[in-house]
Amino acid sequence: MTIDKRYDIIIVGGSITAIEAINSIHEINPHTKILLISGEDRLPYKRTMINKNIVRGFDKDDFKLATNEWYQQNNVTLIIDRATKIDRKQKSLETATNGTYTYNKLLLATGVRSKTLKYNNLAHNDYYRVQNASDVEKLLKDIKHKQSFLIIGSGVEGIETADQLIRKGKNVTIIDRNNRPMRKLLPEEYSNELISAMKNKGVHYLPNTSINSVNRIRNQQYEVTFGDSKQVFDGIISCIGTQANIELAQEANLKTNKGILVNNFLQTSDPDIYAGGDVAEHSNGTMTTLWHAAAYQGEIAGLNMMSISREHKIKPFRLKTDVFGLFLFSANFENVNSGQYEISCQQQGNLKRTIYYKNDETNGIIMMNDKNRAKEYQQAVMEKWSKEKFNNSLPIQQSVIFSFAASFK
Ligand SMILES: Cc1cc2nc3c(=O)[nH]c(=O)nc-3n(C[C@H](O)[C@H](O)[C@H](O)COP(=O)(O)OP(=O)(O)OC[C@H]3O[C@@H](n4cnc5c(N)ncnc54)[C@H](O)[C@@H]3O)c2cc1C
Repeated sequence: MTIDKRYDIIIVGGSITAIEAINSIHEINPHTKILLISGEDRLPYKRTMINKNIVRGFDKDDFKLATNEWYQQNNVTLIIDRATKIDRKQKSLETATNGTYTYNKLLLATGVRSKTLKYNNLAHNDYYRVQNASDVEKLLKDIKHKQSFLIIGSGVEGIETADQLIRKGKNVTIIDRNNRPMRKLLPEEYSNELISAMKNKGVHYLPNTSINSVNRIRNQQYEVTFGDSKQVFDGIISCIGTQANIELAQEANLKTNKGILVNNFLQTSDPDIYAGGDVAEHSNGTMTTLWHAAAYQGEIAGLNMMSISREHKIKPFRLKTDVFGLFLFSANFENVNSGQYEISCQQQGNLKRTIYYKNDETNGIIMMNDKNRAKEYQQAVMEKWSKEKFNNSLPIQQSVIFSFAASFK
């Protein structure tokens, strides 16, 4: 196949930002020629599914976001390759294997990668990650020969992975140097509920714990020392967090910090280059980490690249997860966790919710076990429902309810 080397728009990174950008671009002009460079070994897919399907397993194209025909119909040439260098003067982009392409506008949607575990003697291959589908496939391939797993980190990816491994009948230990699970998404009382639920299912949870050393021993087992303890595990899974893939932008002298710096129109320091999704660092310093936030940025970047000026606003997208028999929902916790809010805590049986109001507007919600109404909760915080509308639209028979004003630093 010979590929034309000139494109109206090139997108680097084949995930949700790219797909939504393509949708926007083609709504404006379906003849726009787009090149999508995807660094993974398959069609762009729904990343959020991979660690939630360890029990079920999956095939290569199970979670694909669009078919091959969709790319053709949308005038998109999709290549599996790595973008290696941007030449801003020539407005061209080099790839590892397919040569150089020119663009009119470029979108960097390169996302994030797992941070490297740094222990002496521990190579990249010695531990598992759950960032890409191929990472989870590697775990799935080995899993039947392994019984005990150590998960490092208790953010949502670590907790969801632990839930799946427990359901698979494995022995799971979670070590976290922080004091509680999902602390960036949940208040302490919800983390405590989660700890109880995990313990009930047999997870060995060790907060405030640092690992001193990890050594590979016979048969691909690992001896881990922490505090005064020493334990052997069949497998180690790192869920210690991510870092943004900013190297391409850095090398092209675009402004970067932790992410690629963008203005409110998702434009980088080069007006012909945009960035969106997890890799973008917004003007207030925020970097989003959620699927729907990336989708929204793709939509906005696509419009702006087509000269339809549209401002990006940080929105309170929610995270929801079903783990250890609990349904957990969190929207805007990071923001409402600092500042002054009226906080209403409500409970009915095992349903629990905490609503953060300011000036009679819903600013944030944490909820547990009200799964069927999750959409309405998302709407409430997106549309900033008044207290009255919230209580009328999402009533509960309140067995315990208390409200207080709180200010956090
Ligand atoms: C296991 C897991 C579970 C998750 N669950 C949830 C959830 O339940 N809910 C939720 O809201 N969010 C969840 N997230 C987060 C969500 O998946 C991300 O916010 C979203 O995928 C970000 O999309 P993105 O378009 O920014 O890029 P990403 O999905 O990060 O993809 C970026 C792509 O760019 C590629 N790339 C990077 N550099 C290059 C290059 N130089 N050349 C070519 N390609 C390159 C990468 O290989 C990757 O394929 C989860 C994340 C993970 C890892």
